[in-house]
Amino acid sequence: MRFRVSQELRQPVGTEFSLELRERSLLLDDDAAVNNVQGDASLLRTDRGLLVTLRAAARLKGACSRCLAPLELPIEIDFQEEFIPVVDPLSGTRIASDEAEDSFVIDADLMLDLGEALRQYALMSMPGKPLCRPDCAGLCANCGANLNEGPCACQPQSEGPWRALAALKTKDEEGS
Ligand SMILES: [Zn+2]
Ligand SMILES: [Zn+2]
Repeated sequence: MRFRVSQELRQPVGTEFSLELRERSLLLDDDAAVNNVQGDASLLRTDRGLLVTLRAAARLKGACSRCLAPLELPIEIDFQEEFIPVVDPLSGTRIASDEAEDSFVIDADLMLDLGEALRQYALMSMPGKPLCRPDCAGLCANCGANLNEGPCACQPQSEGPWRALAALKTKDEEGS
């Protein structure tokens, strides 16, 4: 998700621009990704770089935290970050800047890459324990069977009270 901003960076401080965002898929980490990223970003020329205000909606692809089934849910990604160029946009000389260390940077080709910021904010807006459905029964701790598909051999139906207890315990653990 890279945009050339060499022209934008040559404008006076206070100039505003906008970008339209469309990205088919963005990998978040080993087992999550966002698809169909759609939104827009407004860019404001600051004295140091570009202040990016981004709003996007996407489909998060991950796994259920209980049964590990793949799931997809809508998320919104909003952020405001200042991106600072590592080179002077006019002379092309490298800017020795301590300020840039903690912020997102615009690379030496004056390309604004929103991918990493999007990735970080998408991870932050991800629910901590996504579920495939609110009452997901999860996996059997003993044999690993998916209990959404029915009881497994180690949990006979007759052990009603024990199942109820186990369910309570699971609830307690989640509350913490
Ligand atoms: Zn599940
Ligand atoms: Zn089992």
